[in-house]
Amino acid sequence: MIGTHAEVWKNCLSVIKDNVHPQSFKTWFEPIVPIRIENKVLTIQVPSQFFYEWLEEHYIDLLKKTIRKELGPDGRLEYSIIMDNTSGPNGPFAVNYPTSNHYATKNPYVSMPIDLNRGTSKDIPNPFIIPGLKKIKVESQLVESYSFDNFVEGECNRLARSAGFAVAENPGKTAFNPLLVFSSTGLGKTHLAHAIGLQAKHNFPEKTVLYVTTEQFINQYTESARNKNINDFVHFYQMIDVLIIDDIQFLTGKDKTQDVFFHIFNHLHQNSKQLIITSDKPPVELKGMEPRLLSRFKWGLSADLQAPDYETRVSILKKKLYNDGIQIPAEVINYLAQAINSNVREMEGALISLIAQSSLNKKAITLELARQMIDKFVKHTTKEISIDYIQKVVCDYFGLPIDQLYAKTRKREIVQARQVAMYFSKKHTKHSLAVIGLHCGNKDHATVLHACRTVANLVETDKQFRVFVSDIDRKITQ
Ligand code: ADP
Ligand code: MG
Repeated sequence: MIGTHAEVWKNCLSVIKDNVHPQSFKTWFEPIVPIRIENKVLTIQVPSQFFYEWLEEHYIDLLKKTIRKELGPDGRLEYSIIMDNTSGPNGPFAVNYPTSNHYATKNPYVSMPIDLNRGTSKDIPNPFIIPGLKKIKVESQLVESYSFDNFVEGECNRLARSAGFAVAENPGKTAFNPLLVFSSTGLGKTHLAHAIGLQAKHNFPEKTVLYVTTEQFINQYTESARNKNINDFVHFYQMIDVLIIDDIQFLTGKDKTQDVFFHIFNHLHQNSKQLIITSDKPPVELKGMEPRLLSRFKWGLSADLQAPDYETRVSILKKKLYNDGIQIPAEVINYLAQAINSNVREMEGALISLIAQSSLNKKAITLELARQMIDKFVKHTTKEISIDYIQKVVCDYFGLPIDQLYAKTRKREIVQARQVAMYFSKKHTKHSLAVIGLHCGNKDHATVLHACRTVANLVETDKQFRVFVSDIDRKITQ
């Protein structure tokens, strides 16, 4: 007598549980929902195509065995795949298996005599290699507190977190290579990237793990080009086992750095080294990135982080407070989680301000204090300013439809609005002239430079224009 689908699956799970790592069980088996049993065929529902492929690739033997145990020798399993878009706005993610090209390559002997950790200013020295020296330890630049333990799991990050964990368990050997994590700002990309690095290092102490920001990477490259030791730069990166590059969007428009990154990427990937990349946009929206690089990003898995839901926000705040050994009333935590809902960094910022306020003024942390502070905080919070946002403010100000900015026209008011948008993009974002040009009607960097100079000159010489510009500046930064 065969039980219901729920019973059968429950029995299967109890066997599976004893045979897989608890984290894998949580990741890959808990989300499965049994839906029916018919003629000894058990149908289970899985969240995505990718999920199904992963199960087939890694757990098929175990699944077969348990199904036969439950349903007899002719028992079978069928999947029902939810075809929703689990990877967010980026469309279904592409999965490819890494080429398992395990030919032996000797790492060049390398050494990195300098500290990568000297802030992000332009003067970061290059990680020289000195041929013939013994390999020395590379400073991973990982932040201990950005661990998996401190990264609260929620619906918003389940896929990225699980994939990240899988990567750390098996760097370079999973289908997630590269693993590309994307989200808007303040949602945990950097934290997760560090967590993967820390965990990989913990699991494989002999592996060289390196976290770099794209800015550091670019600066190192520029420096090495100036010092004519690009080869050393490339060699250094080619001997990393787990390379984490944060905020890859800053590589847009940087053709030469992209080129060298492309070679490093290929080398690492071919040698089954792990790449973890973060971006503030899904790959399809990375304008100004070489197509061949973009296509490589799709070799692995792109997973997004969404804004956390209320419960997750509460857990994040609680975890933070617990770690810091601070107690505050539950109603205050709930209030903060409610008041700030789209950016974890801002929510944490509000919490820290609140704690600071209360200790400075020797006031207890109450709902009332939280309310007053949030009123101020939310208004004064500096948001990340994007080119798109600047364009919107400028067009609103001049009463132009935004698509006019991209139009091929020489109408004076449009040319001027475009120039103003370029000027502010240079002033308020970290993007290069080339990227700004791309976003403002596909202009080249010389046009952007010209625009910036024109606006600066007009501000000097034209009183009315100066008023426009300072009005717009206020609107952008308010
Ligand atoms: P991003 O790189 O996407 O801009 P960060 O990784 O810098 O975001 O995250 C911003 C802050 O929010 C960090 O302090 C980070 O620890 C925290 N944070 C984000 N997501 C989580 C999470 N799921 N659990 C715990 N803390 C989180
Ligand atoms: Mg970040």
